[in-house]
Amino acid sequence: MFSMKILISNDDGYLAPGIAALADALSSIAEITVVAPDSNRSGTSNALTLDRPLSVYRATNGFYFVNGTPSDCVHIALTAIMACKPDLIVSGINQGQNMGDDTLYSGTVAAATEGYLFGVPAIAFSQVDKGWECLDSAARIARELILRGFPSLDKPFLLNVNIPNLPYEKIKGMRTARLGKRHTSEPVIRAIDPHGREIYWIGPPGAVKDAGEGTDFHATSGDFVSITPLQVDLTNALQMKQLIADLA
Ligand code: MN
Repeated sequence: MFSMKILISNDDGYLAPGIAALADALSSIAEITVVAPDSNRSGTSNALTLDRPLSVYRATNGFYFVNGTPSDCVHIALTAIMACKPDLIVSGINQGQNMGDDTLYSGTVAAATEGYLFGVPAIAFSQVDKGWECLDSAARIARELILRGFPSLDKPFLLNVNIPNLPYEKIKGMRTARLGKRHTSEPVIRAIDPHGREIYWIGPPGAVKDAGEGTDFHATSGDFVSITPLQVDLTNALQMKQLIADLA
């Protein structure tokens, strides 16, 4: 029916409003398959579950859900569920931004990354500011961006998209942006459990450190959609040279 096949995943779980909005927006332009975690797995980064088996279930709306991480979902979708490779993998729409250093922890970005590692172009979509007030606007932008295509980009590509939580008419446009930076995370929050034992909650991320011109933080705070092409190679080229000098 459609020539384009899209795999959709997320880290907020298969019941999240963000994935439903995305599936709804993309089902009119592509044959979609949805495979997502059974519960909220935000902040799981690229984790794969290796210490227990995984099961795949199917909801009445056709979405597949897995008792695993976002990376597990894409991994299983590509190697077990889908008959052939999709043309595109789309992750989100995440509840909350994934900009700057957040991208390292993000399960939303990780689901896209897993596809990219399998050679499939992938896009991660997140909405800035929690709450779903303008989810329809974000879904519309995601659809437009996918329809536009990226003929100049080498394939596979890995794009990280952050959309302001604003009505469609209030969004000023799209900006290509580099990742900004955050300060070190806030300390853990200590509490006492009902048995009198000390417990810890991971605290909030650090405040934004680099939100300068050209960053994703800057673009979205100016009501633009930010789009960042990502890569996976973490090699520090400058320190590579320094290290060679130190080891000579
Ligand atoms: Mn999430």
